[in-house]
Amino acid sequence: MARAANDVVIPGYGHGFVTARKGDRVRLTDLEGNQVGDLWAISVDDHDEYLSTATTRMLSGRVFPRLGEPFYTTRDRPILTFLADTSPGYHDMMFASCCDALYRRRGKANHPNCRDNYFAAIEGAGVRHANIPDPVNIFQNTPARPDGSFIYGVTMSAPGDHVTFRAEMPCFVVVTACSSERINAGASTPMRLQVLRAATRRR
Ligand SMILES: [Zn+2]
Repeated sequence: MARAANDVVIPGYGHGFVTARKGDRVRLTDLEGNQVGDLWAISVDDHDEYLSTATTRMLSGRVFPRLGEPFYTTRDRPILTFLADTSPGYHDMMFASCCDALYRRRGKANHPNCRDNYFAAIEGAGVRHANIPDPVNIFQNTPARPDGSFIYGVTMSAPGDHVTFRAEMPCFVVVTACSSERINAGASTPMRLQVLRAATRRR
């Protein structure tokens, strides 16, 4: 199994992952503000079991994540619980990751994108997926109107804002610093992803 440093700075337009044990806290910090992080969680023991936004929406009865509630896997089991949030509280579970085709439609060839970054990140974790799971888009400010259409808001997170999760099973947590200039206030900027593990003391 691949090993990861458990405190990584993800560059703008980049990717990273950490490996959490059951019970660990995992924190994602927006270092410079206005930055979306696409987030995935994959079971270390079975790479076909991963965070499913569709399962989470069904079992929570909600469109967007809520503090105190779990995110569920493709096998209906909790994988992360949403413990804390210092941001204004906008997060998305409806949008796919940005990809090469999206930027090409905007006239930008060979633009960095979260889909390519996802596959690069999981290679580092020793995971092979044929398709990219739908992400949780942390700090993404795209709430829905009553008619179901989305509001495309500017990402509201301030420098240092962070979200914290508890791992409910051993899992890889993968994050890409979303590459979209449009929703990230002009440029993609760095994020910090870390496992907060209680120190074990020797007596
Ligand atoms: Zn993206």
